This record gives sequence, structure tokens and C-alpha cells, in this order.
Amino acid sequence: MKKYDFIIAGGGMAGLSLAYHLSQSPLRDRSILILDKEDKKQNDRTWCFWEEGEGPFESILFRKWQTVEFHGTGFAGPLDLGNYQYKMLRGIDFYDHVRSHLAQFPNIEFRQATINRVKETPQGGFVIANDEPYMATYVFDSTFPLDLKDPDRHNLLQHFKGWVITTQKPCFDTGRPRMMDFRTDQRGDCRFVYVLPFNETTALVEYTIFNERLLPEADYEQALKQYIANFLDTGSYQISETEYGVIPMSDVPTKERPSKHIVRIGTAGGHTKPSTGYTFQRTQRAMQAIVRSLVTRGKPRRRPSWLRKRFKLYDSILLNVLEQNRYPADDMFTRLYEDNPPTKIFKFLDEDTSLGEEFRIINSMPKKPFTIALLHVLWRRAF
Ligand SMILES: Cc1cc2nc3c(=O)[nH]c(=O)nc-3n(C[C@H](O)[C@H](O)[C@H](O)COP(=O)(O)OP(=O)(O)OC[C@H]3O[C@@H](n4cnc5c(N)ncnc54)[C@H](O)[C@@H]3O)c2cc1C
Repeated sequence: MKKYDFIIAGGGMAGLSLAYHLSQSPLRDRSILILDKEDKKQNDRTWCFWEEGEGPFESILFRKWQTVEFHGTGFAGPLDLGNYQYKMLRGIDFYDHVRSHLAQFPNIEFRQATINRVKETPQGGFVIANDEPYMATYVFDSTFPLDLKDPDRHNLLQHFKGWVITTQKPCFDTGRPRMMDFRTDQRGDCRFVYVLPFNETTALVEYTIFNERLLPEADYEQALKQYIANFLDTGSYQISETEYGVIPMSDVPTKERPSKHIVRIGTAGGHTKPSTGYTFQRTQRAMQAIVRSLVTRGKPRRRPSWLRKRFKLYDSILLNVLEQNRYPADDMFTRLYEDNPPTKIFKFLDEDTSLGEEFRIINSMPKKPFTIALLHVLWRRAF
């Protein structure tokens, strides 16, 4: 059996990103096998993320914006993103671009196959796909299913349904997406709408909820219809695409490195930010760090410093406030965006802030519910 240097189990966002970053590194000539059960020819998702300056996928961005709109309770407005831009990348553009780039490398193989098993062995990582065995020095696995049932942790879901609509009247401001619009019935949860304009008559309108249970399909659709009727002067409109997704918002510990020759990546590796669901940029950073470590040390080691673990605590506190309904979510996000510049919020969510900057953001939150949430989180962890 041929032994590869790297097997990438799952050629979705994380797997293709890792292969892309490897192809940009001194390891570009290593033998790599990318296994996925799908051909990745569908536009199955759209990624939004913020970034300072230009990133590796700048040329294939679908849209990018310097200003976003926020609609909260008693505060609304355009938010200038300063050094950041809010970027939108369509899944299909990413898959096509990265796969055709990787196709130039004779040492990188793609195989469409269903992975049945990923297993540690003394000789390396072992994968069975379509009943065929494969072996590699390291297996990078984005297919491992997360078990988000730990009762001592927070297990929320971010679930959303979106429609790409084309309207009779020009009603979208192409320079200004609505990032969070809370003008939708909260029903005791955190519910908001995104509007991402493609042009004056076409946009992705997405209804998003943070809670613990999915809704029947008709409820998302009802909320979308109501929002469009109340807040967009569309005239008639047609739906050309739909998007549905569920992203874990959980602080259940994930194992990025379950064993010597296996590394989990993407959502499976814990690269989803628990308090926001944003995954794309965190995965890029994690994949770049893995490649750097492979280049410099020959091992895919990524050990965040002890001090950085404070961000996990902040995530858990926010999840606890949401899970336990300690404060209305629409009011909480309104305070966040009213009292802090978006540049500081993005930096905080990117986990790049100093303790002083974090104190100012945390201080803008309601004291009592956040203190109770902190105590509850510490209690849960201690016992
Ligand atoms: C609809 C949607 C919209 C999202 N929008 C955003 C966003 O705007 N911003 C953001 O930061 N994050 C977003 N996310 C979250 C996150 O970025 C994506 O889920 C991202 O695709 C996760 O990357 P991944 O590589 O972990 O998983 P995936 O991209 O899902 O890749 C896993 C791959 O493994 C393959 N696979 C799984 N099981 C097997 C098997 N047994 N055998 C073979 N292949 C297998 C799958 O076919 C898939 O290609 C979104 C998620 C969804 C679902």
C-alpha cells in the first residue's frame, strides 16, 4: 500500500484550505491524497468573514464592504469597519478555485469516496474509504462528527435559512449589508436577519437563530416573508436559491489532536468560534499555523498559550447568558455595538485583543447577568 505524506479526509472548507496553504509552502511537493464523498460542484454555502487588508482568497471574493448596518433595540446605524472589510465568498467559487489550483500539482491526488474509518496505527494514520485502505504519516480529518451532548457544557446551535431573492423594485443598498437586524420577533431567543446585497435588486436574506432546537421549515420561511414585507420595499420578488445551515455554538472540548498521526481540522477540530459560529477565518489561521509547524518542526503541533484560554471562558460566559436567557439577546448585542467600535469587537472576536481592550468590552455588558453567568460556568467546570 502506498504511504502518503498527508491524507486530507474531507475536502470541504478546512481540507481544501489546508491543501492550499501546503501548496504555498516548502511542503508543496509532498504526496497528498484528498478524499471526499462529494464532487464539490454545488454552491452549498456562502461564507462571510471580516479581514484586515487582503487575504489569500481576495481574487475570488463575491463582494466586500467597508460599512455594515446594525439594527438593534433603540440603536441602529451604519458601522464603519475601519481597517477591516466584511467579505463574502461563495462556496462554489472557493471549491472551483482551490481545486483547479491544486490540480496543477502532480503530487496531489483527489479521490471521490466515502470515508468509513479513520484510525491511528503505530505506522501512521489509516483511512478506509469505499472499502479501500489508505495510509499516511498524518491524516487531517474534517469528517469526524462532533458529539455536542455534554450536559455540563453549553450546546447551542446557530441555525438559519436564507433566500436569494430578486426584486421587482431596486431596494438594496449595495454598499451596505445588514449584518445583524434584530427587528424580528425574538420569542425568548436570539433571532436576527442578515441582508447581503449582490446588486440593487438581488440579495441573500437570511433568518438566523441561536438556541437549542431547530424549527420546522415553515417557521423560517414565515419569518423571512414577514421581514421582507416589513423592512424591504421589494415589490414582487422571486427566490432563486435557498441556503440552510446549522453551526454548533458549543464549548464542549474538541480534540484537535486525538492521537499521534491524526489531526482534526475545521469544525471537527474545534475551529468554530463557540460564541459566534464564525469558522472560515479561524480555520485559515489554524491551517496556516499547522503548515508553519510542519515546516519548522516536522510536526503539526499547535499549542495555544495558557493565557489565550481566557477567550474560551469569555465564549462560555456568553453562551451561558444566551442558554439561560439571562438578558435579552437583542438588547445585549445592541449594547455591544452601541458602546464599542466594530474594529474592537472584531479584534476581540479574533482573540487578538489585550486584557485592557477586553475589559472595556466586557464592562459594556450588563454586569449582573454576566457575573451570574461567570459564576455558573465556573461552578459547572469545578463540579
Ligand atoms: C450553510 C452554511 C453557511 C455557513 N456560513 C458561514 C459564514 O458565513 N462564515 C463562517 O465563518 N462560517 C460559516 N459556516 C460554518 C463553517 O465555516 C462551514 O460549515 C465550513 O464549511 C466548515 O468547514 P469544514 O471543513 O469543517 O466542513 P465542510 O466544509 O463541511 O467539509 C467537510 C467535508 O467532509 C466531507 N465528508 C463528510 N463526511 C464524509 C465521509 N464520511 N466521507 C467522505 N467525505 C466526507 C463533506 O462532503 C465535506 O466536503 C457556514 C456553514 C454552513 C453549513
